[in-house]
Amino acid sequence: SSNQRLNNHFQFVDVGRRDPNKKSVSTRKKQFVEIYQPYQPQQVAEQSHRCLDCGNPYCEWKCPVHNYIPNWLKLASEGNILEAVELSHRTNTLPEVCGRVCPQDRLCEGACTLNDGFGAVTIGNVEKYITDTAFAMGWRPDMSNVVPTDKKVAIIGAGPAGLGCADILVRNGVKPVVFDKYPEIGGLLTFGIPEFKLEKSVMSNRREVFEEMGVEFRLATEVGKDVEFQEIIDEFDAVFLGMGTYTYMKGGFPGEDLPGVYDALDFLVANVNRNLGFEQSATDFIGMKGKKVVVLGGGDTAMDCNRTSIRQQAASVTCAYRRDEENMPGSKREVQNAREEGVKFLFNRQPMAIIGDEKVEGVKVVTTELGEPDDNGRRRPQIVEGSEEILPADAVLVAFGFRPSPAPWFQQFGIELNSWDGVIAPEEQAFKFQTTNPKVFAGGDMVRGSDLVVTAIWEGRQAAEGILDYLDI
Ligand code: FAD
Ligand code: SF4
Repeated sequence: SSNQRLNNHFQFVDVGRRDPNKKSVSTRKKQFVEIYQPYQPQQVAEQSHRCLDCGNPYCEWKCPVHNYIPNWLKLASEGNILEAVELSHRTNTLPEVCGRVCPQDRLCEGACTLNDGFGAVTIGNVEKYITDTAFAMGWRPDMSNVVPTDKKVAIIGAGPAGLGCADILVRNGVKPVVFDKYPEIGGLLTFGIPEFKLEKSVMSNRREVFEEMGVEFRLATEVGKDVEFQEIIDEFDAVFLGMGTYTYMKGGFPGEDLPGVYDALDFLVANVNRNLGFEQSATDFIGMKGKKVVVLGGGDTAMDCNRTSIRQQAASVTCAYRRDEENMPGSKREVQNAREEGVKFLFNRQPMAIIGDEKVEGVKVVTTELGEPDDNGRRRPQIVEGSEEILPADAVLVAFGFRPSPAPWFQQFGIELNSWDGVIAPEEQAFKFQTTNPKVFAGGDMVRGSDLVVTAIWEGRQAAEGILDYLDI
C-alpha cells in the first residue's frame, strides 16, 4: 500500500544508525583482534535501507575513490551481495580494508545527508560486509573477459598504492610484478596498522586473490639492495613506485635520544613482527608491560601506539597532544575506542623536553591556549604561564608523523623531487602520475605526503591508467 511505501521511505526515522556491536573492553584490553562483531544479514538490510538515494550523492564525491555508494547500498539491502561486490570493485581495490580503516566521519559518512541529525548511514561497515560475505561465499573477481597483452610492469611497494596499480593493470591484461622488502604484502596495512583495526588474515586472503588474478609478488626483496633498479627498468615495459614515506618527524627538543624513547613505527612494526612470527631476534621487540607510557601525537599512528601499549599491559598510557580534541587529525571513532580502553588524553600540551639521567623518566610539557587573533585573523597557541608539569614516564613513543624518504638512486634515474622531497608525479598531465623519467610512474604517500589508505589506492589506480595510456593499451 502507499502507506507501507511511505513508511519504507522514512526508514531512517524508524531505524536509527546502528554500528556493529563491539567486543567487551576486557577482551579488547588483552587481545590483538578486531574489536567489532560482524553485522548480521538482517542488520545490513536495515542499515543500508536507510539510504535516501539522494539525487546528487555527496558521499560519492567525498569518497576519494568515488565509490557507487547508494547503488551498492541498495543491492546490499536487497541481499544481492554478488552484484554489490562486483560493483564495489569497479572503483575500489580493497573495499574490505577501507570499510575497516577509512576515517568515515571525515569522508563518506561525514557527507551523508542523514548526518544532519538522524545519524549517517553506516557506509563503511556495509562496504566491509559486502566483500567479507562475498569472499565467504567463494566469490572471486571475474577475470573471464581479460585479453592478455605481452606487456609487464614492475611495481615497487606492495602497499595500497602498489596494489591499486596492480589491480587495474592485471584487469587490462598487463602482467604486474610487485617487489617489496617486507615478507608479506600490504605495506602499512600489514606492518603499521595493528590487528585491532585490521586483522592480518584480511591481507593474506587478498594476496591469494591477487595471485589467482595473475599478480606476481617478489617479497623480502629490497630494490636498490637485493635487486638493482637498472635491472628492473631494463626488464619491464614501465615501473610504478609506491614506496611510502618513512622519515620520522622529530620534536626537536632535548632528550629525544634517551633510552626508552622510541619512534612510533619501530614500536608498531616490532609488535606485528612478534605476532606474525617474523621477529628476527627477541631484542627487536619493544615491550610496554608494567610501564608508564607517554605517547606524543594525536593522529592515527599515535592512537595505534596508545592501544597497542594497552594490550601489552602497560601500567598506564597517557596521550599528550598539542591541540584540542576537535582538531585531532585522525578518526574520531578510534579516539573514542582508545578512551574506552583506558587511554588518558591530555590536550593542548606542548612537549618541551624529555627528561631523565640514564634513561627516560618523564616528559616536561606546558599547557597552551589559543591567543587573540593576529593581523591575519589566526589564533595561535600561547603558553599558559606557570603551566609547566612533568608527566612521569618509563617509555615515550613519538608519533609526530612522516616525511618522504627518497631512495638514493632516484637522482641517477632522473626521478625528480619537489621542495619537500615528494616525488614529482602530477595527476594532471598527458600520462597521469608519470614522473620526470617517462618510463616511471609514482603514487601514494611518496607523492602526496603521508595521507590515507584510500587516497593511496586512488593514486595507484589512476597511475595504472596513465601507464596503460603510455603503453598504448
Ligand atoms: P605504504 O603503505 O607505506 O607501502 C609502501 C611499501 O613500499 C612498503 O611495503 C615498503 O616496504 C615498500 N618499499 C619501500 N621502499 C622499497 C624498496 N626500496 N624496495 C622494496 N620495497 C620497498 N590510513 C588510513 O586510511 N586509516 C588508518 O587507520 C591509518 N592508520 C595508520 C596507522 C599507522 C601506524 C600508520 C603509520 C599509517 C596509518 N594510515 C592510515 C596511513 C596509511 O597506512 C598510508 O597512508 C598508506 O599505507 C600509504 O600507502 P602507500 O602504498 O603509499 O605506502
Ligand atoms: Fe567511505 Fe572509505 Fe568506503 Fe569511500 S572507501 S565509501 S570513504 S569507507
